[in-house]
Amino acid sequence: MKTSIRSFLRNNSANMIQDLLRIISFPAIAPQNGGKGEWEKARELEKLLLERGLPQPEWYVPEDPTDGGVRRPNLVVRIPGRTDRKLYIVTHMDVVPEGDLSAWDMDPFRGKVMGERIYGRGVNDNGQELIASIYAVMALQALGIRPSLEICLCFVADEETGSTYGIQHLIERGLFSPEDLVIVPDGGNSRGDFVEIAEKGILWISFTVKGQQCHASMPHMGLNACRVANQLSFELDRALHKAFPDEDDLFDPPVSTMEPTRRKTNVGSINIIPGKEEFSFDCRVLPSISLDTVLEVVEEKCREVAHLTKADITYEILQRNDPAQPTRKDSDVLGLLCRSIEETYSFSPEVGGIGGGTCAAFFRKSGIPAVVWAHEADVAHMPNEYCEMEHLLKEAEVFAAMMKG
Ligand SMILES: [Zn+2]
Repeated sequence: MKTSIRSFLRNNSANMIQDLLRIISFPAIAPQNGGKGEWEKARELEKLLLERGLPQPEWYVPEDPTDGGVRRPNLVVRIPGRTDRKLYIVTHMDVVPEGDLSAWDMDPFRGKVMGERIYGRGVNDNGQELIASIYAVMALQALGIRPSLEICLCFVADEETGSTYGIQHLIERGLFSPEDLVIVPDGGNSRGDFVEIAEKGILWISFTVKGQQCHASMPHMGLNACRVANQLSFELDRALHKAFPDEDDLFDPPVSTMEPTRRKTNVGSINIIPGKEEFSFDCRVLPSISLDTVLEVVEEKCREVAHLTKADITYEILQRNDPAQPTRKDSDVLGLLCRSIEETYSFSPEVGGIGGGTCAAFFRKSGIPAVVWAHEADVAHMPNEYCEMEHLLKEAEVFAAMMKG
């Protein structure tokens, strides 16, 4: 059975390339990024699905008020299985903008095939997996195999700008249940040997210190915001690491990371004492720690340093993703995925956590076990984004193995 699935896919590789290029030729860019959303791409995808013999997709279309109101479609295709239990493969239709066009060796939205690689914006993130999921269904249909679970292919909007009108909308509409098996193939490596089951929480904080500007030769006339910012940054760093030393071997690195990062430009001249400083922390926090307790330490330190220095200190949370509990190591979806990877590659994948940022977290927060896996080059969002033919075929084979059960 494995060999027939493999040969079906190999025999269809030219069609897979053609369909991938066809799909990416519709620039599904979010209105926040200056685009028109996923509507045209979704229409074309529906056409393609029907041409390829898949059932009529269901449409779920929230309105995005940005830029005068744009409809953000999500498509779900269901293929009945031997039971009612559902296996969801969730891929996203939207892409990030092409960026600097001069950095591309081809038209990002026409794409190009060179050797074993297909180039274009969105071929890797997330077109490769979208096409792989469709061809996995086609392989089963061609071979007359009824899937063990009901197969649901989910093609969502808005992954690149927060998922409000994509995954989050579908979860709010009650599409999923904790009994479902969910794979989000939107992160992985070029060996295909890593499965992500956990993410750290994310907290981005920007601090503003206000003192009083003056001449550098007369510091007593002002209040040096640069010095206060240095002190605050140093003390925050130390207090946070002291308060949260916990380790979790699921992650690499195994600790929460709390890093001072961006510092905004202050004065234009070396002889001016700055009256204002802005700097940021990027915190990636282990799931066992609540972000509220992190913020308590931040709050206390800010108050303390402000009191000591008489500077005005405020902070703003630029991003907050509370961590979800990891998907269990004995969950059905992880078992099924690992077995399917072993069947396809003859190796066992490593299972672990990452620093955060996929939409599997939304599932986990709703109590739905989700796993993230892909076999892909690390070129998402870059110019000359590409997909390796071999990766595309292998992913389709793993999805087909999962569907077959
Ligand atoms: Zn993606």
